[in-house]
Amino acid sequence: PWQQGGAAAGPDNSPLQIFVKAKKKINDIFGEIEDYVNDTVEYMHDIEKEQNIINTVRVKETEEFVSKVHGIRDVLCRDHMKVAFFGRTSNGKSSVINAMLHDKVLPSGIGHTTNCFLQVEGSPNDEPYLVLENSEERCAVESVGQLAHALCKEKLSESTLVKVYWPKNRCLLLRDDVVFVDSPGVDVTPNLDEWIDKHCLDADVFVLVANAESTLMVTEKNFFHKVSSKLSKPNIFILNNRWDASATEPEFLDQVRRQHQERAIDFLVKELKVCSSKEAEERIFFISAKEVLQARLAEQGQTTSTPLTEGFQTRYFEFQDFERKFEECISKSAVKTKFEQHSQRGKFIANELRDILDGIYNDALKLKEDRLAQRKEVTDKITYTEQQLMVITQDMKKKIHTMVEDVEQRVSKALNE
Ligand code: GDP
Repeated sequence: PWQQGGAAAGPDNSPLQIFVKAKKKINDIFGEIEDYVNDTVEYMHDIEKEQNIINTVRVKETEEFVSKVHGIRDVLCRDHMKVAFFGRTSNGKSSVINAMLHDKVLPSGIGHTTNCFLQVEGSPNDEPYLVLENSEERCAVESVGQLAHALCKEKLSESTLVKVYWPKNRCLLLRDDVVFVDSPGVDVTPNLDEWIDKHCLDADVFVLVANAESTLMVTEKNFFHKVSSKLSKPNIFILNNRWDASATEPEFLDQVRRQHQERAIDFLVKELKVCSSKEAEERIFFISAKEVLQARLAEQGQTTSTPLTEGFQTRYFEFQDFERKFEECISKSAVKTKFEQHSQRGKFIANELRDILDGIYNDALKLKEDRLAQRKEVTDKITYTEQQLMVITQDMKKKIHTMVEDVEQRVSKALNE
């Protein structure tokens, strides 16, 4: 089955889709909020000219939402899932990343040590290139050789970040917005605080690449103690790499594995206190990155040699198992950390807009009531005047009538006399 290759799962049932779909959904929602804000502003401008209902402060407040929503949509486009790899030099960090990418993207091997932070992410134009820190310039890279050469040429300090943009169509993980960060070995007397502040605060998952041929070193442990003191409950995976070496000593295999497993669980659960022992069991894997990479390159016809060491298939399955658990973990964690804040803001803006529109509606109602009351007052006055007029005319009629009768009587009396 390993020959079928591909990522830990197919493109559409990959756990990474949790993040991909959530990102699309929240983007669509913000698209609707944007329309809603624009409509509100347009409507306010319309009635602002004609009626005396809206004050300019309210219009200004609403106009500010336009740029706020724009800002959030910008950040949303750039949101990704970030995984950072740490461990001693030559434990196989670059090999693990390459195996996950199904390609030799990062230089690895004897003679090459990663001497700065390398970030691999999907290239927007499907062309590979790299960008040095504090630079906008895109240096085209076609091959690993060129990349290694470009990196050696520059005198880079160990906490510098070089971004490698790799074609998304060559790897599902890059297409689905996973960003990989490779670090210099934790044994190179690093400035741990600077490393963490610069490169780790927004990481969703940390992978400690350990060497299965030795135990966890103090330097490796110290680094993760620092990480967990700066971040609350970081998601940490431990890969015991070079597990292919165990094939040469099958009689100790189970015993060695159990020992590594127990120590790694103790480290995560008792020392770092980042997870329960049950969770820790899903975070520790025994793999061989070199073999997986070799197998995946052979699958694509890039090399002909497939790994033949005893137990290869089992290790390959364990690597796939790691990939699946990793994908589940990173997508869930990224949705929470990246989108929770956006959805709070979205809710806030929608509520504010509703309050503003409610305010306008209530003011308009009040205005209508006032006008109706005014009109009623006028009508009442007219009716009163009409009634008065009626009374007066009736009175007049009566008076005139009596007057005429009186005159008639007097005239006829005078005539008789
Ligand atoms: P990094 O310094 O941690 O990035 O380590 P690299 O990925 O550059 O690996 C250092 C050397 O170890 C390279 O020669 C790799 O081919 C080799 N290597 C990496 N993973 C394995 C593995 O699983 N088994 C064996 N036997 N060698 C490995």
